[in-house]
Amino acid sequence: MTPYVLVVEDEDALATLLHYNLDKEGYDVAVAGDGEEALLMAEERMPDLVVLDWMLPKVSGIEVCRRLRSRPETRNVPIIILTARGEETDRIRGLDTGADDYVVKPFSMTELTARIRAVLRRIRPGLAEDRIRHGDIVIDRVAHRVRRSTREVHLGPTEFRLLDYLMQHPGRVFSREQLLDAVWGSDVYVEARTVDVHVGRLRKALNQEAEQDPIRTVRSAGYSLDMEG
Ligand code: CA
Repeated sequence: MTPYVLVVEDEDALATLLHYNLDKEGYDVAVAGDGEEALLMAEERMPDLVVLDWMLPKVSGIEVCRRLRSRPETRNVPIIILTARGEETDRIRGLDTGADDYVVKPFSMTELTARIRAVLRRIRPGLAEDRIRHGDIVIDRVAHRVRRSTREVHLGPTEFRLLDYLMQHPGRVFSREQLLDAVWGSDVYVEARTVDVHVGRLRKALNQEAEQDPIRTVRSAGYSLDMEG
């Protein structure tokens, strides 16, 4: 699954450059021009990583960081701070801001993308790895195969993406709308009920008799992947 990176940068030229280069690296990129917009965008669609400029108009970088950390949905989102030389305070150096890493401007794209990859690998191994496991389910993204204990599970492309997404965030409850955005994309119009249909197909393919259903339906909230062991 393509990691969704939210870039928060008020300098247009740099924002455009970041957008272009991260897009080329294969990330799904969106840009917010100020802190307020960033918080709204993060609420609409959960980023997999935030590249956050330190000096922003309206709501500052540190405030955006603090608010993202205080919301349960974005508490663990990886954050990389962009800071100008000289702004690099002890606070940033010690990452006592809640950020995961920082990059000092001017930086090369190679440096930034290396940091992004490293942070994603460390914090969200599910995004960077070729294989993820949850309980007795293993998903192989390179071969596009899914196994449950010793048997091969055959999934359609949508069910595959749905399982991949749920496996990246085990235990988290997603609403139908959040799953639509993440799996189908926010620019596609699909009814929320479609999610139920695909979850149903996924369950049917994954679960054989006497096997535990790894997908939990949370009444009026949505779905989560939850399996003991
Ligand atoms: Ca700035």
